[in-house]
Amino acid sequence: MRIDLHTHSRISDGEDTPTALVAKASQAELDVIALTDHDTFAGVAEAQEAGKRMGVKVLAGIELSTQVDGRPVHVLGYGCDPHDAALAAELRRLRDSRRERMPMMCARLTEAGLPLTAEDVYATVGAPVSVGRPHVADAMVAKGYVATRDEAFEKWLALGKPGYVQRYAIDVGDGIDLLHAARGVAVLAHPWSRGNRDTLPAPLIQKLQDEHGLDGIEVDHEDHDMHTRSLLMEMGARMGLIRTGSSDYHGIGKPAYPLGVNMTRPSAYRELVARIRERGGII
Ligand code: AMP
Ligand code: FE
Ligand code: FE
Ligand code: ZN
Repeated sequence: MRIDLHTHSRISDGEDTPTALVAKASQAELDVIALTDHDTFAGVAEAQEAGKRMGVKVLAGIELSTQVDGRPVHVLGYGCDPHDAALAAELRRLRDSRRERMPMMCARLTEAGLPLTAEDVYATVGAPVSVGRPHVADAMVAKGYVATRDEAFEKWLALGKPGYVQRYAIDVGDGIDLLHAARGVAVLAHPWSRGNRDTLPAPLIQKLQDEHGLDGIEVDHEDHDMHTRSLLMEMGARMGLIRTGSSDYHGIGKPAYPLGVNMTRPSAYRELVARIRERGGII
């Protein structure tokens, strides 16, 4: 079984429509994918329809924006009820704040000598349900200010760079609770990627498990080098956390991690499915 539990569509900051994403997953001979757009379930129904036609199991997922002391932490939710009222209300707040941040980022860039408006961004990327920095990056590429998404982040959009504007996110523990209340399971996305290593030290991960019932951690991810993966694998085993792997496929940018570049072991997937069932979630 080939299983990739973290992918994005153009409903958030991916390149493909949900249907095209599933077609590519089928071409990559994946048996299971999770669609995990940032702060929205809007692409899930279409992806699941396509999955039925193409013989790919599509697990309902989300990548929730949370924070620890103002630093971004992403939490993957699997099997949640997308109609859960509390979760839906929180997702709406997150998307509203993403939308409000867009003109502020454009103003910062304009002041820094790169004229850009929110209208320019939407003219480039259309109307994603969940907008973010990658869309600003795409508009900067379209204007010829930078060559790639990656360059836009490195020079302008990363934390501490001139175009960076912080936005609202919920506390990581509250985020895990919210996913659980929606009957899903919670897995920390790329916990020790470059920026996150200091944000999520082992004792905090332990605390999230003890106090919030954290279910798992993403281990095999392109942002983790081999040493980091082995540390996370060991730590997760010691704590009894489900350890997943994924491509975090976006199509373009991030840079372009191909579908299936990392995968979740079938045994870990079975644990995840069992945990979703225990919590009464949707599988
Ligand atoms: P936002 O949630 O709007 O603050 O944007 C964060 C998103 O930008 C992440 O989820 C990634 O998808 C993307 N991202 C972060 N760093 C980079 C980078 N260096 N190059 C391209 N995309 C990135
Ligand atoms: Fe993203
Ligand atoms: Fe992420
Ligand atoms: Zn992601």
